[in-house]
Amino acid sequence: MLQEIADRVFVDLDYEGSNVGCVLTDQGAIVIDTPMIPSEAKHWAESVSQLTDKVLYVFNTDHHRSHVMGNQFFKAPIIAHEAAWREMSNYKDTFIERTKNLFKKRPEIQRQFDEVVIVKPEFCFTGRMVMKKGERELIFVHLGGHTPATSGLYLPEERILFTGDLLVVDEHPSLGQCNSEEWLSKLRWLRKQKYAQLIPGHGQFCNVESSEPLSEYIRAMRSKVRSQYKSGRTKAESAVVISQMLDFFPYRQGRKSLIEKRIRAGVSRVYDEMKSIYGKNGEVSKRGGYRQRE
Ligand SMILES: [Zn+2]
Repeated sequence: MLQEIADRVFVDLDYEGSNVGCVLTDQGAIVIDTPMIPSEAKHWAESVSQLTDKVLYVFNTDHHRSHVMGNQFFKAPIIAHEAAWREMSNYKDTFIERTKNLFKKRPEIQRQFDEVVIVKPEFCFTGRMVMKKGERELIFVHLGGHTPATSGLYLPEERILFTGDLLVVDEHPSLGQCNSEEWLSKLRWLRKQKYAQLIPGHGQFCNVESSEPLSEYIRAMRSKVRSQYKSGRTKAESAVVISQMLDFFPYRQGRKSLIEKRIRAGVSRVYDEMKSIYGKNGEVSKRGGYRQRE
């Protein structure tokens, strides 16, 4: 359902995949992210067309399928962090095939992906980009943590931040491409900001305090994987962490294997991070005296 959360600022939190938004300016709209399922992306494009007859840009908060898959349904250039462009440049047909495979039990959705083409960003930034459109100021800002590309859109007038997947609420985050230490420090930074409202990548809108459970999750993941690593377990053996993390956040019925896959990717990523902090297994015990970071 489309909701106006501030003057000419709209969100829809009901699509499968990520949250989407639309900010109107005197010259047209800036759309934030596009749904993964084509029929939902078309629905989103239709909703936006009720608000404005011109979409100036679509902003992808990262390169993941739940943010970019519907880009083609908006006839507007895409803005994203340069790292998102790099990732999306490497997407092959297998990327769409893998997305189709997520919907094995829903053939009516699977079929929709036959018409999907990935539309890459045309305008890229790295740190921060300020856009002035009439009375409105929009600040695109790199956030990182979740992926090197993760970025947000800040509306200074309303003190609203679209966080991208830096923040997900009441849902298992995806740590597969993360820098978990950077993510924790960025969430600490977030809690010090005076934002009025946050639109997370997934979940209901919230305030900066709502980021605490996510920090706890990342800390738990780091500490569990760290103890596996330091006990000399291999990455495969460290998969025991998956069941320990499963109930940290709720998940919908029928999504268990998807969530397990997501946690597995996170365990693998954090395991590699531990390796880079503590050195190869085996060397660790000889050297002794670790530097605890978290
Ligand atoms: Zn993401």
